[in-house]
Amino acid sequence: MVTTVKKAPPLPPATRSFHRLRKAVHLVCFLIFLALPFLDVMRFDIPRQRFYFAGYELWINEFGIIFFALMFLMFVVVASSVLYGRVYCGYLCPQMIFSEASLALENRLKRWFQKHRANWSAKQRNRAAMALFYLVLAVCSVFLAFVFVAYFVEPRDLLARLRALDVHTAGGISGAAVTLITFLDFTLVRQRFCTTVCPYGYLQGMLGDQNTLLVTYHDEQQHCIECKKCVRVCQMGIDIRKSPFQIECVHCGDCIDACEDVLRRIGREGLIHYTWGEHEDRTGRAEPWHRRLGIRDAKRVVVLLVLLFYASGLYVALSMRRNVLVRLAPVRTVLYRRAEDGSIRNQFRYSLANRGRTPAAVVFTIHQLPGATLLLAENPIRVAPGATAQGEFEIAVRPAARFQDVNHFTVVAASIADGATDTFPMTFLMPAGGAGEEHP
Ligand code: SF4
Ligand code: SF4
Repeated sequence: MVTTVKKAPPLPPATRSFHRLRKAVHLVCFLIFLALPFLDVMRFDIPRQRFYFAGYELWINEFGIIFFALMFLMFVVVASSVLYGRVYCGYLCPQMIFSEASLALENRLKRWFQKHRANWSAKQRNRAAMALFYLVLAVCSVFLAFVFVAYFVEPRDLLARLRALDVHTAGGISGAAVTLITFLDFTLVRQRFCTTVCPYGYLQGMLGDQNTLLVTYHDEQQHCIECKKCVRVCQMGIDIRKSPFQIECVHCGDCIDACEDVLRRIGREGLIHYTWGEHEDRTGRAEPWHRRLGIRDAKRVVVLLVLLFYASGLYVALSMRRNVLVRLAPVRTVLYRRAEDGSIRNQFRYSLANRGRTPAAVVFTIHQLPGATLLLAENPIRVAPGATAQGEFEIAVRPAARFQDVNHFTVVAASIADGATDTFPMTFLMPAGGAGEEHP
């Protein structure tokens, strides 16, 4: 309904622009998206079966750390959805960032041809703009697909495959497929992905409640002048005035800027705002800091406590992690054997894994078994970064009255580089009476 608005002096333009804020956040997110795999901040290396997280190279069998890392990341998404609704979609999601960038590029190219090729027919200008757009998008798709696949394949390895135009190995085929999908996505699908394929919008419907951050329209005074600028700027093609709960709305805030821009010229405040829940607080009271951050009820406190729990678990698991993993076990296919020199020998099997980025060396020593000799050709044992080593050694003792049939002792494995030690309680088996016959 068109309403006659009483003329009022214009208000100064809004100092705050959610569009500008969003573009700045998009740039930061884009740089983070580029940096994460190349700096090993977060990357699954599928061929090598490694998970890189916060600079740590985690082996696939380090289940505890990977579990806490994945649960922590999952709860970051849950907490952001409960507190801030679909702000992730509008501000942080790569699909949205690249969809908007591709749309902006297409419009910019069309405008350029309109301005600089005014003597061409409209059809020619449009064709030339689209041809250039597809060309630029093809190059960008190769680049984006490269970065995306680098989350799963080591970047230098991937670059070598790209240079060789490898479409035979799994990595090369994946790269080619992702390039094609990226190209089609950002030329044809764009934001349609958000309302058709992406499950996050539907998930948000389950996680949100009366205190979740929303973009809402309130017009009790009937100040709306029906200019429809809020609808025209909406990249999702919706009218926020109908409902704040439309599945298409990504809470980007562009309609807030648009309405402020229009109504301030006629001396009115905008009618669209970010609000906690559907109902705007119009009391003007200053709210405590935790409510302004979105911590508005017990549910949010619980969600943040769970997030804190997983963050603490991850921190503890990472701080307890050792670069060199040592395992030691007795070989009991033969309980003991008597050597030609008369000594009694027990056999042990070791395995070492160097999960660090520098060479490691581990030295074994025997404790609480007087007179025992460790028969190991190489001690310390050296292990290259990322490598494993397995082997066996014997411990020999001369039969003596002080030994019992079963003798408890310890083997200490010390990592030379970082001084970390592992102590393994072991048993040394002797013939009955301390020097009996060999047992099979
Ligand atoms: S921009 Fe504001 S005034 Fe214009 S139609 Fe939208 S809500 Fe109404
Ligand atoms: S309705 Fe407003 S907040 Fe929602 S997507 Fe459209 S412009 Fe963004």
